[in-house]
Amino acid sequence: MTTAVFFDLDLTLLRYTAEFETIFDRAVPDAPEGAYDRYLSVFFDAFEDLAVDPYAVGFEALTDEFDIDDDPEALVARYAAAELAATTVPASAREALVRVADRRPTGILTNGAPAVQRAKFERHDLTDVVDAVVVSNDPAVASRKPDSGIFEAAETALPADDYVYVGDTYDEDVVGARNAGWEAYHVGGEGPDGDPTDDAPDDPASVESVADAVARILGEDGA
Ligand SMILES: [Mg+2]
Repeated sequence: MTTAVFFDLDLTLLRYTAEFETIFDRAVPDAPEGAYDRYLSVFFDAFEDLAVDPYAVGFEALTDEFDIDDDPEALVARYAAAELAATTVPASAREALVRVADRRPTGILTNGAPAVQRAKFERHDLTDVVDAVVVSNDPAVASRKPDSGIFEAAETALPADDYVYVGDTYDEDVVGARNAGWEAYHVGGEGPDGDPTDDAPDDPASVESVADAVARILGEDGA
């Protein structure tokens, strides 16, 4: 029996050293009033519609609607660079990922734009550690968590008997994985804003960290 292990990327393996609004301000200094909220709204609509480059859609709307003295391509490039520069992978998470990848087929399954997510893998040397990478807004995947389609794309990418998913967002990661017939671990018990996710009380899938999830997956926790 082979069990494949997939990890969420953002806020599971990857941490941010700045809020998204701060990243936006770095990319668009002196942004007009309302520009950030408008960008977010257009970005998330495009993201949910599985656009390959929701960042471009967001910044095209901004340059159309606001007095911004830059072209959308330059803004997208600056934003992507600022977002990338604000990411870190804790050493403990990397060590745990390497440890499980030595012993199980291992992949990353993430909601995001393919170019930006791949830039994050490359910046943090994650691509060579894992066997498969599945990104929601890649046209070959075209499905986002919690929908089962993205988990099915992962099964195709990495054939195994059973699957485990490790992620930080209960409704997308844990519920989505279970609906697809996967086992799941919920890391951290906090939402992206640091608010406790009170929708996951006493779930046996709750773990403190990626390292704890890996210890349980590899049967090293004494259980
Ligand atoms: Mg996440």
